[in-house]
Parts: sequence; structure tokens; C-alpha cells
Amino acid sequence: MARVILDHVTKKFGDVVAVDEVSIDIRDKEFLVMVGPSGCGKSTTLRMVAGLEEITSGNIFIGDRLVNDVAPKDRDIAMVFQSYALYPHMSVYDNMAFGLKLRGTPKAEIDRRVKATAETLGIGELLRRRPKQLSGGQRQRVALGRALVREPKVFLMDEPLSNLDAKLRVQTRAELLKLHQRLQTTVIYVTHDQMEAMTLGTRIAILKDGILQQLDTPQTIYERPVNKFVAGFVGSPAINCLPAQLVGSKTEMYAEGKGDSFKVRIPAAKATQLADHLGRDVVFAIRPEHVAARQQGQPASDNRVTGRVDVVEGLGSEAIVHLQVDETSVVAKMEWRDDLRPGRDIDLMLNMDRIHVFDVATEAAIV
Ligand code: ATP
Repeated sequence: MARVILDHVTKKFGDVVAVDEVSIDIRDKEFLVMVGPSGCGKSTTLRMVAGLEEITSGNIFIGDRLVNDVAPKDRDIAMVFQSYALYPHMSVYDNMAFGLKLRGTPKAEIDRRVKATAETLGIGELLRRRPKQLSGGQRQRVALGRALVREPKVFLMDEPLSNLDAKLRVQTRAELLKLHQRLQTTVIYVTHDQMEAMTLGTRIAILKDGILQQLDTPQTIYERPVNKFVAGFVGSPAINCLPAQLVGSKTEMYAEGKGDSFKVRIPAAKATQLADHLGRDVVFAIRPEHVAARQQGQPASDNRVTGRVDVVEGLGSEAIVHLQVDETSVVAKMEWRDDLRPGRDIDLMLNMDRIHVFDVATEAAIV
């Protein structure tokens, strides 16, 4: 059992509250990703699980054991950092074997684990080389291997892929996923990269200013963000947020943009949820992938918004189109069309079933 429980964990550095009452129940064999902007407290949280940072208040359990006062080496965890600091004078084999030797693991057992792990990671051929004779990606895999041979209950990883180039990062990401499926161990993984979080995590914990914002599966976080911050953090390009007012009636409700820049009909089910906000200002939000261009001949309807094209980023079959709707920038991710030219007005059709509405003051999701 390698469940990890953070129970109201707080960390203060003097007056700075780096981690504020964070509670996360990480299930056995789960791949939990902690993500958030720089300074949100994700590394500090991980370091507290590792025992490298003292907890100011709260409790951490690994398995069934309260580990607040347990030394890092006795926590049955292995950590992989961004800077993987291999011993330059040792071979790959010795780098991987080093920790086990220190623990007095029998030689034959070390040999078995190092070779098996090296095979798993595709570095079996490199065991006699020194780190400087390896590529960055290979070195990163040695660092992973060094942690894997320990066969710990829990892996803690802090931005382990950030030194790799884009292509290698995607490749290593896929390998990590395969590895996790095979090894069936609990992983807690820290990154600032939402894409990495979305692709790797069984669940994602999103932090901001030391406070846990949302803990859920990638899909739920994408579809039902609890607030404007989470909605904006997940998804690329980022979600569009437009100032609007809810007008009309409970049965026929519209979101109306500033200066009459747009007026779109809210679907009935969502209108019901928004009833208390009728007549109020709200943040009207929609993801770029849910904004399309109106096709020729397609009837104009009450989900139409007109925008002036600013910039077009062609991606081959698709385009990311930056537009102005009144004074607000809107980004649409749509099928490529030849008439997408800067300065042109085009009609956009919003997928109204996918809209989000946030409270202006609290930024919490209403719908
Ligand atoms: P990054 O992605 O930049 O590494 P992070 O989300 O991992 O950021 P932390 O490193 O956990 O953030 O830091 C959280 C907050 O705690 C920051 O405001 C940081 O300045 C502060 N902090 C971290 N370590 C210390 C320390 N040893 N002393 C004082 N403040 C610290």
C-alpha cells in the first residue's frame, strides 16, 4: 500500500505562506500531478513529502505511517529532480547501483535490478559509459533508473523532463506513462506545464499561491473548472474571457457583451443555473476550440459573434485566429479557410453548450 495523504499541510517561511492547508489523498498506484505557476508552492509540497522540508502544521502519511518526523531515507520514497546530477566519474551501471550499495543490498540483487531497469528504460547498451558520453535524454533516463532500482513505494518527481528538448520531452513523457503502467507504483509529479499535467496525470492538483484550487481528473478539470484561474491555466490556447451582462428572462436568457458587441442565447439548462445572476455582470468564457467560423450559407443564429481578424497562425489543417470583438481579444481555433485575413470581419459561431460563466467578484464558476 502506498497511499500518500496530505492532511491540512502548511508551510511557512517566516511570513511567507508557501503552502496553505493543502489536503490531498493520493491513491495507491496513482500518477498525481501537482501543477501551477511559478511560486505556487508545488515544489515545497513535494519536498515536504520527501522529508526535505519541515512541515509547519498538518500531517503527512505514507502508507499508514505518519511520517512528519521520519527521516527522508526512511520514508521509502525515491526522488527525481530537474537537475539529475549523475556522478561524472562513475559508469552508468555504478551510478544506478550506488544507492543500493550504500544500503548494503547484496551484489547479485543489485546486478539483477540494475540490468532489468536499464532494459526497461532502453539504456541496457549504455551501462559501461560515463555520463558525459550520453545525450541529455539518456542521462535523464539514467537518473530515472537510479530512482527506479530502489523499488520505492512512492516516486517523487520535480520537473524531471524540463532539461530535455521539446521532442525528447514528448517521447520521454510517453515512456514515463508506459513505465507507470508497468511498475504500478504511486507517483507524485511536479510541473509548471499544463500540457504535461494533462497528459500524465491520473488526477491533477492545481495550486495557486499555496492554495489547492482543484483536484480532479484532467477531463473534469478541462470541462468543469471550478474558477476562472483553473479555466485559464488548463487548455491551449487559453480560454477566452469576455465581460458580459446576463439579460432577458429566466426562460430566454442572453449574455450581452459590452457596447452591444455581441448577444448570444444561453441554453435553457444553463439559464436555469444562472437565474440568480440575471441582470448582473459576469465573466463569459469559451475555449478557442469551441469557437468556429460560420460557413457560407449557414443561417445566422443566436450564437453568433462578429469579430475582426487581427492575426492568423496557420497550423496546416487548422488555424489559430486572433480577433477583436469590440475591445476584447478573442482567440478561435478553427479549420483553415482562405479568407482568414487580418482586418476582415468574420462571423463566429459559439458552441453554447461549452460555455463557462464566472462570478465577477469571486471568479468562481457559476456554470
Ligand atoms: P517554481 O515552479 O518556480 O519552482 P513552485 O511552485 O515550486 O515554483 P515553491 O518553490 O514551492 O514554488 O515556492 C513557494 C513559495 O515559497 C515561493 O513564494 C517561494 O519564494 C517561497 N520559498 C520557497 N523556498 C523558500 C525558502 N527556503 N525560504 C523562503 N521562501 C521560500
